[in-house]
Amino acid sequence: MSTTVLPTYDDAVARYEPVIGLETHVELGTNTKMFCGCPTEFGAEPNTQVCPVCLGLPGALPVANRAGIEATIRIGLALNCDIASWCRMARKNYFYPDMPKNFQTSQYDEPLCVDGYVDVEIEGETFRIEIERVHLEEDTGKSLHVGGATGRIHGATESLVDYNRAGIPLVEIVTKPVTGLGSRAPEIARAYVTELRDIIRSLGVSDVRMEQGSLRCDVNTSLNKPGDEWGTRTEAKNVNSLRSVERAVRSEIIRQAGVLDGGGRIHQETRHFQEDTGNTRPGRSKETATDYRYFPEPDLVPIAPDTAWVAELKAALPERPSSKRARLRVDWGISESDMQSVANAGAVELIEETILAGATAAGARKWWMGELARRANETGVELSLVGATPAQVAQLQTLVDEGKINDKLARQVLEGVVAGEGDPAVVMKTRGLEVVSDTGALQTAVDEAIAANPDVAAKIRDGKLAAAGALVGAVMKTTRGQADAKTVRELILARLS
Ligand code: ADP
Ligand code: MG
Ligand code: ZN
Repeated sequence: MSTTVLPTYDDAVARYEPVIGLETHVELGTNTKMFCGCPTEFGAEPNTQVCPVCLGLPGALPVANRAGIEATIRIGLALNCDIASWCRMARKNYFYPDMPKNFQTSQYDEPLCVDGYVDVEIEGETFRIEIERVHLEEDTGKSLHVGGATGRIHGATESLVDYNRAGIPLVEIVTKPVTGLGSRAPEIARAYVTELRDIIRSLGVSDVRMEQGSLRCDVNTSLNKPGDEWGTRTEAKNVNSLRSVERAVRSEIIRQAGVLDGGGRIHQETRHFQEDTGNTRPGRSKETATDYRYFPEPDLVPIAPDTAWVAELKAALPERPSSKRARLRVDWGISESDMQSVANAGAVELIEETILAGATAAGARKWWMGELARRANETGVELSLVGATPAQVAQLQTLVDEGKINDKLARQVLEGVVAGEGDPAVVMKTRGLEVVSDTGALQTAVDEAIAANPDVAAKIRDGKLAAAGALVGAVMKTTRGQADAKTVRELILARLS
């Protein structure tokens, strides 16, 4: 391999035009698998959710899961696709240990949904990403290589395979080649996957979690000189986060520009994205196309969705996430960039539900985007799984509004809620965090503070009311922040006037 000098990103996109294409796999959240009745729950003991059909035992016959077909059609409709009135599943033949049937039931030249688009908005500008097809297939099992240092097959002493995932419905969404993006290709690729995730989540057909693999993305990139034909593409696999989608396109643009600058040529291959370096390394060459010997699946009847059913599904689609964001932004009275941060944090629905549970927009946003977002970041969990529910956040804000706790105490209450100690009112009681506004108890603390700070007290007597802050601080300290500052101030001034 020849060594190449890498250009800067700006140099690369000044000289070459990138073309990108995204293939996204979405694991559907159906209760049972696509062609048998096995459960689909994540994280079960290996090989406990299997049967003769998904293990591909001789004589076993598949039956299509209506919920999987319905979810695929709804995804297609939400992506503005045409829905086929008649199509078939196909066998994609290949041999791999995680594929017990030795073929994957998929779709080939008769996808269920075709010719759609997704509009992606970045800073007020809209980019249309065209969708080539949305098809239905089944997931494979999972291999586990043990005994080696890397978890890869090289150096492993044995390999285990878990078929629980085999047969779970999977929807593949393939874009047409996207051109004309120039230097913005990486960020638009990311924005597309983000929008796609939000749309699918709004349909409730998948939890679309990239870190758990229910949303997976392959990123194709090629470069050409202006006016030339499209270049040869590479396909980056293993892209497991939104940030990685952007980094994969960017690093591949730089790498390919380096090769082309040096007079080399790009080989059509799959490459593996590496989280640590942000680069891709070569994988399987695709120049000799694998022959999958596709043919129509003989054991399943064709899929012929009734037009009335499709129209019904279309009419019942939920509000588009982008329209919903625009509407909520106005309701909440926040800027576009604040709304963008809320969306990026995955907090739109959480804040919406918190408001429905009785909080103000400002109150709801404050907790989700402040304390809870910080916690989610620190622990690396999604905001929705951080340990507090919208109802609890609304209750917390109510306690603050009623003056039962102040902001500082509220943070401690929230800590207890997240730790599973119960609802805010319960945590407040059990941790003894209620604001002390009982004047009897406070009076004693106030008198002690006055006695301990005679100079300050003298100033206040002389009419320098600003000095009262120091005494309020002293009382807050002795009451461990549990006093109501306003009441304390009133008591001090009453004593010293
Ligand atoms: P494969 O199964 O070989 O990956 P697919 O048709 O499923 O092929 O996906 C190919 C993806 O690559 C599509 O998203 C397509 O739009 C995109 N693509 C095709 N040609 C190019 C190119 N020259 N540069 C970048 N992307 C491309
Ligand atoms: Mg592919
Ligand atoms: Zn099964």
